[in-house]
Amino acid sequence: MFYKSTRGMEKRLTASQVILQGLSKDGGLFVPEDIPAVDIKNIENIKGYKDIAFIILKKFLTDYSDEEIKSCIEKAYSINKFDNIDVTPIFILQEGCSVTELWHGPTQAFKDIALQIMPLLLSIAKEKNEIKNEIVILVATSGDTGKAALEGYKDVKGTKIIVFFPHNGVSEVQRLQMVTQEGSNTFSYAVNGNFDDVQNTVKAIFNDRNLNNILSEHGFELSSANSINWGRLVPQIVYYFYSYIQGLQKGLFNKNSEINFVVPTGNFGNILAGYYAKKMGLPIKKLICASNSNNVLTDFINTGVYDRKRNFYKTISPSMDILISSNLERLLYELSDKDSEYISSLMAQLNDNGNYKIETNIQDKIKDLFWANWADDETTKKQIGKDFVDKKYLLDTHTAVGRVVYLKYINFTGDTTPTFILSTANPYKFSISIYEALFGRPETGKSEFDLMYEIEERTSSPIPMPLRSLNEKKILHTGVIEKEFMAKEVLRILNINS
Ligand SMILES: *Cc1c(COP(=O)(O)O)cnc(C)c1O
Repeated sequence: MFYKSTRGMEKRLTASQVILQGLSKDGGLFVPEDIPAVDIKNIENIKGYKDIAFIILKKFLTDYSDEEIKSCIEKAYSINKFDNIDVTPIFILQEGCSVTELWHGPTQAFKDIALQIMPLLLSIAKEKNEIKNEIVILVATSGDTGKAALEGYKDVKGTKIIVFFPHNGVSEVQRLQMVTQEGSNTFSYAVNGNFDDVQNTVKAIFNDRNLNNILSEHGFELSSANSINWGRLVPQIVYYFYSYIQGLQKGLFNKNSEINFVVPTGNFGNILAGYYAKKMGLPIKKLICASNSNNVLTDFINTGVYDRKRNFYKTISPSMDILISSNLERLLYELSDKDSEYISSLMAQLNDNGNYKIETNIQDKIKDLFWANWADDETTKKQIGKDFVDKKYLLDTHTAVGRVVYLKYINFTGDTTPTFILSTANPYKFSISIYEALFGRPETGKSEFDLMYEIEERTSSPIPMPLRSLNEKKILHTGVIEKEFMAKEVLRILNINS
């Protein structure tokens, strides 16, 4: 199988080449030329996550050998990385509504599913394509992606990873997760400034021709851990299939049943993987797109107009605080029958005017596949409290947005199709908001860890091991730097005198 760009100007590339390259040179995203099919009858009896992962990955990564794919899957999803044998287990919340927990990985959030395997695929891609340079991953993070990337690239051959986060701009738990990071090839720095300062400086480093030449002369090459890389998307298709398999095997529905998924959405990567799963043959009726107050996607799906010119809200579900959902471009490409000229013009309008309107025939297709709504912080917190009391289940703030939107969907449509809500983070990752949802405003002077222990005591939901011991771990990265020194620091790490 080959891949091409949504903007049509790139030559056909293999899977390993698109994983190495990330973004297409014409500014587009890589997509497979054809979407492969899975015969659903052949997977009904599959027993484990790794077996279905192999079937799915093999269909897309056709220039990797069976052994290569298997070894990546074994390493990424072993029991010492994911603390549950099912990797993405399901919890039955009520009749017709289950939760698929995507947060059993090393950093307790759904990004681990992709970021545990993608560095291994990249390392093999490098050998396959005889790339001699060492790959240096640069990440600007406002919290979660940085830690997930550090864990994913930790000790992966032929790579180094450097993460920059805003000093005083991340939570105490997030900061400790990054500054206690182990591994011989990992580096993390606090930078004086806000997230935009950090992100803009990282972008400037990527675009600095002179600096990139110096790096190349010394055998290094910069790369990003961006969520638009195909290598991050394809592992996410797996848990849609595995949710179905688990539901079937637990007798939640029968073989002819359709299912729905509710997806707490930001950059549109997670839910797009669901679209591919449906195209491959998984009997999905509706993909339900849940947003927080940054509800640009709700409006888009309901009106056909994408308009990023609107207020930006900082919410209690920060990983969904996004106004440009990059992966949407891939969906529009498929639904416009691969019309790359049309896609290029839409993306130019978004760039120049901040908005675009799609044709009605594409909007009709979107309405057929998707349903969308949103929830504000107050409603989301109330739902966390209510489900804890009624169902004895503690939802995180992102998943709770999905839960509110699920209840709205039932109300509006009366559809009783068995549904999975994708749960994207463990509640203890967002302890302050969870505490407020359950018990109201915390007394001043209590630390995030005090609140964590108190939630555990009062709810009996266990704190995940890596978070529990976090404030006792050794601090290994003490650097606090000015943004003007970020590029210098990269050179210093790589032992380059300039
Ligand atoms: C990244 C993230 C999301 C959003 O996923 P997208 O693929 O960007 O739509 C939702 N919840 C959590 C906890 C996340 O980390």
